[in-house]
Amino acid sequence: MNKVLIIGAGGVGNVVVRKCAQVPEVFGQIMLASRTKSKCDAIANAIPEAKIQTAQVDADNVPELVALINDFKPNMVINVALPYQDLTIMDACLETGVHYLDTANYEPIDVAKFEYSWQWAYQERFKEKGLMALLGCGFDPGQSQIYVAHAAKHHFDEIHYLDIIDCNAGDHGKAFATNFNPEINIREITQNGRYWENGEWVEIPPMSIHKPIDYPNVGPKESYVLYHEELESLVKNFPTLKRARFWMTFGPSYINHLMVLQNIGMTSIKPIKVKGIEISPLEFLKAVLPEPGSLGENYTGETSIGCQIKGIKDGKDRTYFVWNNCKHQDAYTDCKAQGVSYTTGVPAMLGAKLMLEGVWMKPGVFNTEEMDPDPFMAQIGKYGLPWQEEIDLVLPHEY
Ligand code: NDP
Repeated sequence: MNKVLIIGAGGVGNVVVRKCAQVPEVFGQIMLASRTKSKCDAIANAIPEAKIQTAQVDADNVPELVALINDFKPNMVINVALPYQDLTIMDACLETGVHYLDTANYEPIDVAKFEYSWQWAYQERFKEKGLMALLGCGFDPGQSQIYVAHAAKHHFDEIHYLDIIDCNAGDHGKAFATNFNPEINIREITQNGRYWENGEWVEIPPMSIHKPIDYPNVGPKESYVLYHEELESLVKNFPTLKRARFWMTFGPSYINHLMVLQNIGMTSIKPIKVKGIEISPLEFLKAVLPEPGSLGENYTGETSIGCQIKGIKDGKDRTYFVWNNCKHQDAYTDCKAQGVSYTTGVPAMLGAKLMLEGVWMKPGVFNTEEMDPDPFMAQIGKYGLPWQEEIDLVLPHEY
């Protein structure tokens, strides 16, 4: 019987626990561990039909993690704490001989910079130990790359242009809140944008390229070019890409709030001293904003995330669009969660399932597009995120 240790009792952690509990034939025993044990207990107590064990752990501390893993003896760890903890959890997995999966790439706490180099550097060590680490298996990163792998396998000989388009057309009723960890979210949006074009990265000021994109069942929404981590692995694994961009929607009210916060210095990650305590303004801001896991109940609307691709098939131009729409209220009904936590946690569970079943299991460190997309695409709908595709349509982007 497989045992899984889930680390991080936030919005995504709640979904991963609930989805794993829905598949007891694969996840025979589940432990949820996080910095604040009461949050693990609250999640476990809300799922009385499953016996979820809980524990306190500081995931920045490798010996603490090793002791917990040695005690519970899981087959794998699903890391849905923060990107800052990726390397310590990978170290603990190597030391204890346990497989690893996460949903966001490593970021050092003192530099808002995210890239895969740190985690890719673990390749040989995981391989030597016969262990697997699957990186970024949420929606984007995660399902977005599996969409590209599916397109490349079934619909193209070569892919040339990729636009990942991510829309949250939802309303949580709060003046300002982020849909995943506020610190990570704001660090992502306030840094320079970046996209891949003709073999190099093009860097742009934050939020400086934007336009309305028409999302299925939602309509046109202003969308902004951001740097997103899956672009790094996609251009490496699909070297025929001439351009790869990532677009995300933000409403005017969100942007106004963000601009004010930025202008007054509240998004800075540089620690300041207040009454003798060192804290960064962004850490303080996170403490006053609503927790992502608390937004679900009255959230209306839906998310729409997909990949628009142009390339060549049988010597002819081909266009392709694959996407999922997820209603926040459906996420709440299934998992007492909002759609962003849900669309992250469901692929994480399915990735872990495919690893534990041996379908995706191979030693080394991998991004999701390096896996066979077929078993994932065949099952993800059943677990809550059905996809649709359209071939040879007119794409709105200039090529
Ligand atoms: P939350 O802030 O809701 O949850 C994070 C949890 O991690 C909290 O419970 C927090 O504990 C815990 N944690 C933080 N530091 C530590 C530590 N040192 N030791 C143990 N536990 C710790 O964030 P989300 O659930 O929204 O996001 C979780 C992850 O998912 C993030 O890495 C995020 O980037 C990623 N994500 C990925 C997406 C994708 O599509 N790929 C989309 C959305 C999110 P405490 O409660 O005590 O603060």
